[in-house]
Amino acid sequence: MSSYESACYYFDRAARLLDLSDNMRKLLLTPERELKVQVATDLDNGQIATLIGFRVQHNSARGPMKGGLRYHHEVDGEEVLSLATLMTWKTAIVNIPYGGAKGGIALDARSLSHGELERITRKFVDEIQDIIGPDKDIPAPDMGTNAEVMAWIMKQYEKYHGFNPACVTGKPLELHGAEGREEATGRGVVTLTVEFLKRLHTDVRDSTFAIQGFGNVGSHAANRLFELGAKIVAVTDALGGVGKEDGLDIPELMNYCSENGSVKGFPGTHPINNEELLTAEVDVLMPAALGNVLTAEIANHVRAKYIVEAANNPTEPRADEIFNERGIIVLPDVLANAGGVTVSYFEWVQNRQHFKWELGRVRKELDRILLDSIEKVWQIATSKKVSLRVACYLLGIGRVGRATVLGGV
Ligand code: GLU
Repeated sequence: MSSYESACYYFDRAARLLDLSDNMRKLLLTPERELKVQVATDLDNGQIATLIGFRVQHNSARGPMKGGLRYHHEVDGEEVLSLATLMTWKTAIVNIPYGGAKGGIALDARSLSHGELERITRKFVDEIQDIIGPDKDIPAPDMGTNAEVMAWIMKQYEKYHGFNPACVTGKPLELHGAEGREEATGRGVVTLTVEFLKRLHTDVRDSTFAIQGFGNVGSHAANRLFELGAKIVAVTDALGGVGKEDGLDIPELMNYCSENGSVKGFPGTHPINNEELLTAEVDVLMPAALGNVLTAEIANHVRAKYIVEAANNPTEPRADEIFNERGIIVLPDVLANAGGVTVSYFEWVQNRQHFKWELGRVRKELDRILLDSIEKVWQIATSKKVSLRVACYLLGIGRVGRATVLGGV
């Protein structure tokens, strides 16, 4: 099943429960705009590279569209569309005043120099600058992009439209970025995980974790879990993985990883591969990297009690059904990783007001929004006797649907 079919599958399940008409389903699923552009640039060796960039604006019923920009060799139009759709539900679930969008460029960042990446980013902004903006569509970091890429976006946008830092979020602190944005997705994942476990009568400090991915989300989540006293027994990244029964020292692992470019070979650990990580006997499995890693085949072998989806779209629908049948409880992506876009919202608010918040305020407001959201989702899941994923979709689709009806088509 393709990533877009997965996104539609989850939508349809909730739409049936909401009794949405076929016309309304079609309206809510159809993206408002899908843009595919040529991104041609000179490489350092004098050759010309012609890349393809995408921006999909899925839905703006609740406000300007919001979502990250992904640099990865597997990016294609369909994946970007499914991720844009997820953003629409995600912003609605945490009730921030946005719609959903996503962008991406198919490239292998590791084979490009810093200068090449900057030229590619600026060229992409040249192509999309008229459809993005603080009141239209606000990009942010996603897989393969970071604060520096956001700074290039802001500066290139400025050439056309003048100073307007709210046109992009996830910027460096020195360039109108927000305190706490970089840690936000990982930290938010943990805030919700602690609450999720508490509601299942489990203490995070007595729990073991296996985390797939040690990028921005995985490393910050691991670090926060470590601070709270949880035991992280396995971590993998794109180049390899490490395991340790009595728990990894995460601050040390972060240092090791920034020096060596991977967790692979971290002293005092044994090597593990991705399949071993996904099927490890732990309390919580946390996919924090790519999509579609939990296939039906793997799902039958998963031994974790709980799954927290820090990544976007990590679980195929058939795997999700298997987890439901096997009693493995899933905290779904559209809620679990919503901390990132929530602090992006705070950054946008600060940029528009030209007023900077302190880190304590960012964390406090983030906790409030996430805990309110999990409470609402929990109430729906309990009263309607549905999974947390279906409850999230009921909440998100319900809000987008009502905004659509109230606003008129
Ligand atoms: N890329 C992140 C996500 O998937 C953050 C998006 C944003 O901050 O706008 O939620």
